[in-house]
Formats: sequence, C-alpha cells, structure tokens
Amino acid sequence: MLRQVAEGVLVHESEFCQSNAVVVHGRAGVLLIDPGVQDHEMACLAKDLSDSGRTVVAGFSTHPHWDHLLWHAGFGEAPRYGTARCAATVRARLSDAGAKARVARMIPPDIAEQVPLDLLGDITGLPAETARIPWDGPQVRIVEHQAHAPGHAALLIEERGVLVAGDMLSDVLIPMLDVHGAADPIEDYLAALRLLEGVAGGVDVLVPGHGSVGGADQVPARAERDRAYVLALREGQGAGDPRVGPSARPGWEWMGEVHNGQAQRLAGRSEHDGTPG
Ligand SMILES: [Zn+2]
Repeated sequence: MLRQVAEGVLVHESEFCQSNAVVVHGRAGVLLIDPGVQDHEMACLAKDLSDSGRTVVAGFSTHPHWDHLLWHAGFGEAPRYGTARCAATVRARLSDAGAKARVARMIPPDIAEQVPLDLLGDITGLPAETARIPWDGPQVRIVEHQAHAPGHAALLIEERGVLVAGDMLSDVLIPMLDVHGAADPIEDYLAALRLLEGVAGGVDVLVPGHGSVGGADQVPARAERDRAYVLALREGQGAGDPRVGPSARPGWEWMGEVHNGQAQRLAGRSEHDGTPG
C-alpha cells in the first residue's frame, strides 16, 4: 500500500526490514527509489501505480547493496540510475557468473524464494558530480557521501521538503559502516552526518531506507544519536545504543551482531596498522 508522506511523494513499506520504496510523482510518470525487496510487494506496487495510471519513468538505487538494487518487470524498462561509484561497485561485485548465487546466499532464507534477482543491479551510473537526477519532475538533488557503502547517495527533494536518506538516519538500524572498503570509516561516517545535517535545513519529512518515516525534528535527532554511536564505536563501545541489545525493536535483535561485527573489525584494523580507532 502506498502512503503519501508529502505532496507527490509516497512510500511503500516492505515487510522485510521495514524497507521503504519511494515514489515521486513527475509530469510524465514516477521516479522510483529503492523499489523494494519481495516479489509480491513489488508486484503490488507496480499494480498500484498502473491502477492509478502512472508509469515508472526513472529508477534510482541509493547504494550498491542487494536490497536496494532490485526491480520488477511490472515497473517496465525505465532507465535505472545510481551514482557513478555505486554503479562501478555493482559492476565489480555482480559481473561474474557466480554473483547472483553469492547474493542469494546473503538473503535471509525465509524470504530468499521471494526475492527476484533476474533484474538485480541493472543500473546506469550517472557521471560523477551529477547534481540532480535527470528526469521530468521535481528536482531531486543527489547528496553523495562515503559512509555506509561506496557511492551511497541521499536524495533531497527540496520542493517537497523530503530527504530520502538511504541507509542513513534510521531509527532501527545502527550506523553500519563501510568497515571493509573505506580507509577511515569512522571519519567518513561523521563527515556524512555533517553533510546530511547541512543540507536538511528545509526538510519536513525524512524517509530512511529502513525504519520509520520521521518529521523535521528527526534529521538532527537521528544524526545526533548516530554520531554518538559512531564516536562510541571509535572507543570500542556502542553496545549501549538503544537500537542494540534488549531495547532493540522486535525483529531487530540482530543489530547486536552487526555492532559486534563492526567493533571487532575496527579493532582488528587498528591493531593491524597501529592507528587508534
Ligand atoms: Zn545498505
């Protein structure tokens, strides 16, 4: 079911990890951001769109993780975009023959059958530094940053007061750092939080890739909580974050494992190169 969160901006929430697909109405059709996860949910969204006489004229993936790279034949063959770095990462990770089997193993077994991988990651990289998504609708500014994944982009729809945050600023996900790829994942994350706070002055609605849609107060509030977590993580702490441990929302108990995993990974890195944090 599509829920309007601002004029001409609608959200379709998945049962899987409270994933939010975002629909933006344009002049000739809609822009579809991170379309969804399970086949029946994307089919439902495709039907909702066609029932209301709307076609998908462009797609966008906020970052190169499988749950943001899916597509459904019912959406048609609109161009699908990501940042140049996102698309290059997808190419590097998904172009070999075993890639889809590898992705399939990353999907929780209870939904694996429900996730259609045939159109996974067929995105075109927009040239580096592209400021806006090329489409005929409200301007959608690309706010690229390195924090959660290579080429991750938040999208700012200024005319509608909406920030689509990708996997940043979530009320259920702790900051998940790019601990495998980045040279300084902690500083990258802190810089990205500053960037998002800096662009979000006129934002009334925050749509995270997973979790609850928030109001204007949620950009600074979530950024502050995420910064506190990242600073704690740098000191080998962070388990006290309300999203980790007994206070995690039902279904999100696995955040504890994510936290432990990235704490260990960062500790291993600093031992290895001798730098603190
Ligand atoms: Zn992600």
